Amino acid sequence: MSRLVVVSNRVALPKETRAGGLASAMQAALAERGGLWFGWSGRLVEESERSLEHRSEGRVEYALLDLTRADYQEYYLGFANRTLWPLLHFRQALLDYSRKDFAGYQRVNRLFAEHVARLLRPGDQLWVHDYHLIPLGAELRRLGVDAHIGFFLHVPLPPRDLLAALPHHEHVFSALAAYDLVGLQTESDLQALRGYFRDECSAEIDGTQLRLPDGRRFRAAVFPIGIDTERVARQAERAANSAATKRLIASLEHRRLAIGVDRLDYSKGLPQRFEAFGRFLSHHPEWRSKLSLLQIAPPSREDVPEYRELRSRLERLAGATNGRYAEPDWVPIRYVNRSFQQETLAGFYRSAHVGLVTPLRDGMNLVAKEFVAAQAPDDPGVLVLSNLAGAARELHQAIIINPLDPDDIVESLETALAMPLDERRERWAAMIEHLRRHDITAWRNAFLHALGEA
Ligand code: UDP
Repeated sequence: MSRLVVVSNRVALPKETRAGGLASAMQAALAERGGLWFGWSGRLVEESERSLEHRSEGRVEYALLDLTRADYQEYYLGFANRTLWPLLHFRQALLDYSRKDFAGYQRVNRLFAEHVARLLRPGDQLWVHDYHLIPLGAELRRLGVDAHIGFFLHVPLPPRDLLAALPHHEHVFSALAAYDLVGLQTESDLQALRGYFRDECSAEIDGTQLRLPDGRRFRAAVFPIGIDTERVARQAERAANSAATKRLIASLEHRRLAIGVDRLDYSKGLPQRFEAFGRFLSHHPEWRSKLSLLQIAPPSREDVPEYRELRSRLERLAGATNGRYAEPDWVPIRYVNRSFQQETLAGFYRSAHVGLVTPLRDGMNLVAKEFVAAQAPDDPGVLVLSNLAGAARELHQAIIINPLDPDDIVESLETALAMPLDERRERWAAMIEHLRRHDITAWRNAFLHALGEA
């Protein structure tokens, strides 16, 4: 079997404690076939000190490349996270473009390609991940690499008109044609890709295949990412007896709990969620002192100004709601700006009566799936899920809401809190069945199988 080479912005090393589903899926695929995982080391150094660190663990090698401060500014904070991230999450007004950042993005992709090309062996199969590395395949082809290369986009892809708003978009998105296979989260992401290639690149589309006028061909298809369903379920069962979960349950004193777990990101709809929770307490005085929202929101990308602004806004919103409704022995919103291990989160999900997953736009949203997988089968909580998250295309039995309408969230809370046990069990059974069948192993096997055929 050919060796697998994974390339992503960051590499998850095997003993890292916060390894999520994707990290374990890649580790498992690499361990099975032997292979290499290439990415940024996380270190920032002077150009003259840039190094490539090699590590290995069994049949798996890791190659970790340092970046300079300019790379970090232009490629990572700039083009990836202030240009592409807002654009791909349908937030054109937040997009900040500069030619300097774009040049940095291309430069780092070229640098990654040069290093990866040197490490390749005949027969290797490559799997490139996410929006940081869209042009990597084209850079590798330029260096003469003719291996099978697949690309998976973890975030959404907006329709052609939005993609075409990006200056020099053709240099970014048409580079996807250099891959043999492009994987997307949902059918609408796939439609967006097809629309872009049809209208901007005059591609002909035949089933999953796209053909460009210069003869280049590639395949594009939908592979909705899953979670390690059994692992999350096991973790939740174990964590139910952990000290952290017991402390949380004791602190509730028989009150109900709604939970949200999101990186502190403007795509997650946190202000709207806080606003809706305040409105719920205003409309339903009978629930005051009887329900708390635990919002876990680890800060992310704090070097990006929009994220700092969001953080202050959320502090004001949580403070205002808590100030208005809190009692000496109860606060409505428990707002926690730190991250937790997945096992701890699993115990928290299981203790909650409602999971609030209300992003304004999300490629998939793994928290929605993890919340379902962590529930106790005999007394499952209810998932409230945004129709703008990829997960809503699969978890039809959640209460599906529009996150832009706070009243929709308010009503979903009413429905969730009043839902009879039979209905909760029925909805949960259908969702867990789906998550077991379409787990992270099925996802990576489906992608790698399609790449082998491409
Ligand atoms: N997560 C975690 N600890 C935290 C918060 C989140 O391990 O404190 C994990 C969570 O379990 C999930 C991932 O981070 O697997 C977040 O994935 P999701 O698709 O929901 O959102 P993203 O952050 O990728 O936009």
